[in-house]
Amino acid sequence: MSKIKILDNFLIASDKKMSDAMLKLNENIRGICFVVDDRKIVGIVTDGDIRRAILNNFSKDDVISEFMNKEFISLPSDSTNNKIRDSLSSKIKYIPLINKLGEITDFASYENYRTIPVMEPKLSQNASLYVQECIDTNWISSKGKYVTKFEDEFSKINRNYKALSVSNGTVALHLALISLGIGKGDEVIVPNFTFAASINSIIHSGATPIIIDVEPDTWCINAKQIEKVVTPRTKAIMPVHLYGMPCKIDEIMSIAKTLNLFVIEDCAEAIGSKWKNTPVGTFGDAATFSFFGNKTITTGEGGMIIFKNDKNFKKAKILRDHGMSSKKKYWHDYVGYNYRMTNLQAAVGVSQMEQFDQIINKKREIAYRYSENLKDLSSIEKLPMDNENTFHSYWLYSIQLKKTIDRDNLISKLLNEGVEARPVFYALNEMPVYKAFAGLSDFPVSRNITNTSLSLPSSLNLDEAQIDHVCFVLKKSLS
Ligand SMILES: *Cc1c(COP(=O)(O)O)cnc(C)c1O
Repeated sequence: MSKIKILDNFLIASDKKMSDAMLKLNENIRGICFVVDDRKIVGIVTDGDIRRAILNNFSKDDVISEFMNKEFISLPSDSTNNKIRDSLSSKIKYIPLINKLGEITDFASYENYRTIPVMEPKLSQNASLYVQECIDTNWISSKGKYVTKFEDEFSKINRNYKALSVSNGTVALHLALISLGIGKGDEVIVPNFTFAASINSIIHSGATPIIIDVEPDTWCINAKQIEKVVTPRTKAIMPVHLYGMPCKIDEIMSIAKTLNLFVIEDCAEAIGSKWKNTPVGTFGDAATFSFFGNKTITTGEGGMIIFKNDKNFKKAKILRDHGMSSKKKYWHDYVGYNYRMTNLQAAVGVSQMEQFDQIINKKREIAYRYSENLKDLSSIEKLPMDNENTFHSYWLYSIQLKKTIDRDNLISKLLNEGVEARPVFYALNEMPVYKAFAGLSDFPVSRNITNTSLSLPSSLNLDEAQIDHVCFVLKKSLS
């Protein structure tokens, strides 16, 4: 369900007839259509334009281009909200937003200046200052002060565990696995409900992933099922703190200890989350983070690994840099990789870390406001929520609907009103490429979540009025 498809409800080709425009106006309810040649906007037709056309003796069979309004205002799609606000008026209630080719990509109204996205980055002034400094000083590659500074700052929020920056969250997982010596012949237990990078990294390491189900309350790995799938080949568990909700990590750590397994925490969605007041990622042998553009802290693309054990950290550092000996240039101790982060990305990362507390607080405020607004809705099965042990960082505020609600239909209704919502991840076992790794025969919990849940807009840019607006649209679409 792309945004374009919904925008289509407002688009009409210039060679169509007045009667087609009337139908479209009737269907989209807003009384306005944007007239396009391909996607290039050439005019606007409103209810009023049709009335005037009829008064001027045009008929229902006349072509739209003959009577459409060609004197309309449009704005570039990257216009600021202030610019959009200043351009709207009692006369101009809708403004098409266009790209450089003149193609319509969205439209603004008083209700929404633009479609509210599920997630967009929010960078500070210092991000540009620091990146500019990298460019001015030529420190644009993977050496430079920001790489070290970012790692140091990251380490500080994670009980001073040694932090290693890498190019993204997926290679962070891969590097964590191979640094712990996991590979061919080994098995790694992974939850059925996660972003696929978790399982992909296991497959890329040469090990075999073994999928088990998640819990209904946390949506995270169900520790009770670990023992059911353990074999002599099992080497590790990869719990994923999904959507920012911490796993029941005590239970997982104690099982891992008994069975002598490594634990690699996938914290890509959970920076800032805590279990019993301790940051997630500082329980396992290694933990990985992602700084992709839609994650809570972003560097555009980027990742980080923290290690409990200094030996594993050192090995990972060498593997990250082609496996090259730290003492002897161009001497390779391992068949390594280039998984380094650039100073440019790290510069953005440092600017983000300066705002770390505010960012996490804001994520929690967004979640509180949603939950306060939505708590009494009978169509909702479950809202994301802390339990007595957790400090949730609410990466994407994701809700579960009652089984009777048509989730996909709800998402298109929301999009139609300028609110982007997104279905949650598919259960891994439902995808042919992962089917073979199902460690259990059935996954009732993940099957239910994947069919009934969705993520609501969760950007740091959201203000209270926008959150209330999303809730208003959600309630209206559900009724
Ligand atoms: C985003 C994500 C990753 C991968 O991170 P990238 O930086 O996009 O490679 C891994 N695991 C989970 C759970 C994620 O959400």
